Amino acid sequence: MSAEFSPTPSCGEPVGQASEEPPSLTEAQRASADAAQEALRLERRCRRERAARREAERLLEEKSSALYEANQRLATLNADLETVVAERTEALRDALAEAEAAKARSEREAMHDPLTGLPNRRYLRAAFEKMTGAARAEGKAMAALHLDLDRFKLINDTIGHAAGDHVLLHVGRVLSESAAGRAFVSRVGGDEFVLLMLFDGDLAEVTAFAESIVRDLSLPIPYGASQLRVCGSFGVAHARGDAINAGALLANADRALYLAKGRGRGVVAHYSGALEQAIRDRKALGDEIDDAIRSRAFEPFYQLRVDARTHEVRSVEALARWRHPDRGVLGPGAFIEIAEDHRVIHRIDDIILERALGDLAAWRAFGLDIPRISVNVSADRLSQSNLLERLKALALPASSVSFELLETIFLEQAAEADFQRLQALRDLGVALELDDFGSGHSSILSLTQVRPRTIKIDRRLVQGLGSVESSGVMVRAIVEIAAALQVRVVAEGVETGEQAALCAALGCDELQGFAICRPLPASALAARARDIQREPAAALGLEGAA
Ligand code: C2E
Ligand code: CA
Ligand code: CA
Repeated sequence: MSAEFSPTPSCGEPVGQASEEPPSLTEAQRASADAAQEALRLERRCRRERAARREAERLLEEKSSALYEANQRLATLNADLETVVAERTEALRDALAEAEAAKARSEREAMHDPLTGLPNRRYLRAAFEKMTGAARAEGKAMAALHLDLDRFKLINDTIGHAAGDHVLLHVGRVLSESAAGRAFVSRVGGDEFVLLMLFDGDLAEVTAFAESIVRDLSLPIPYGASQLRVCGSFGVAHARGDAINAGALLANADRALYLAKGRGRGVVAHYSGALEQAIRDRKALGDEIDDAIRSRAFEPFYQLRVDARTHEVRSVEALARWRHPDRGVLGPGAFIEIAEDHRVIHRIDDIILERALGDLAAWRAFGLDIPRISVNVSADRLSQSNLLERLKALALPASSVSFELLETIFLEQAAEADFQRLQALRDLGVALELDDFGSGHSSILSLTQVRPRTIKIDRRLVQGLGSVESSGVMVRAIVEIAAALQVRVVAEGVETGEQAALCAALGCDELQGFAICRPLPASALAARARDIQREPAAALGLEGAA
């Protein structure tokens, strides 16, 4: 703005000399006229300049108000923009949090078992890595404990999946509580769990830990108005330092578990080299059993049952034998457990029943009077869905067949469906017998549940007769209860004439045991049965010495 004003003198400044002088005027007049003119000129110039300044000021004012407005607009815009940015940031933050939560959720789902909420196999792998680092840093040993539930399949199949889930949730809780602060717990499959723990090197600590869990798991599980029972077996493997390897440790724990299951229920087995061999043997035997089923190398041997007083033949029990190509004739001790493990025991039961029916028909065709045969029936066989169809197809001879059931099948968790099935068997003319009676814990209950035609007193009770005082008391009590319920009583495992006499005196209806007859092949049994039929008095004492 200063550039618009030249450095010319402004109004009121001293004025210089005029250059022209009119000839008619005096010097002074001329000077005064000049001055007046100059003043006029200056005044005009001043006015112009003032006007220019005003214009400039006006312009300036105009521009600054425009600038102000522009500034205001800019400020408003800025404020709007900030609001938008804040809103967008907020939305973005929400979306990010949501995405993170979803990621965490899906990560959690990917790492946990949906039913029990326990870590799953993937999580187990990750935990293994972490614990391996800790074990090496702290100089500790690491153990993998593989748990498998016994009887779980039975619950799932007979009582239903809701009961199965109930059991799994319960087991998950028991494990979490027992392991709190001590071990990592995961569920790796249907009824299988793997625990990892670090320990100082004393295996007894790990064993005690596993055994305490086995004990807790064996307690009854309340389920509605009833109770469920399971039991668990552990396979344990351990390693320390550089030898800790996830693949090997978990596989070894699994192998140890396989052996634990073979030894019975509620077993804790540790992995070792000897165990490795035992497992190989067991696996090979399992394969051999499969082959033997295909080639029907299983056959029944028979043991006679006679009337306790008259010694007349009442029945025969079919006992499975395996005619092994190298090892000769093998008893159930050599294969039942493994066949159960491989879930093929029902096929052996089926072969034995079919062959026993054939033998019975043959004996009868030769005029030999064998009133009944009984076969042993596994839980597996009893729960086969096609059992009844199969029995109908076999066209059982009327009133001639009994099924011997182990009372332990029914002890804890028989469901309504099981009792209906038993009724269907009775309707088919099959008599039910409770085997090894007196060896379980709730025999009286199973009597009312199963309503058998006959009970077979466990041979440990019979063999105590004459030497163990309580045996006599027990046998007498069983006979009395059976009489009240109109159930027949067979004494099993009668080895001596004295035991036979005591059983008869105590009121048993029938006798079975080495004293009367050893288990014999079909051909030999016929001769023994004929001998006894000819001369019942000779039934005793012949075999007892063998
Ligand atoms: P179990 O049903 O209690 O059969 C009686 C067992 O006692 C038989 O053993 C028999 O040989 C033995 N025994 C008979 N009398 C005497 C005696 O006086 N003294 C002694 N110490 N023992 C005697 P085995 O044949 O070895 O059978 C063992 C078990 O295997 C049977 O016990 C039964 O539970 C099971 N079993 C046998 N055959 C079959 C079958 O076809 N299917 C199924 N699922 N199990 C079977
Ligand atoms: Ca039996
Ligand atoms: Ca028995």
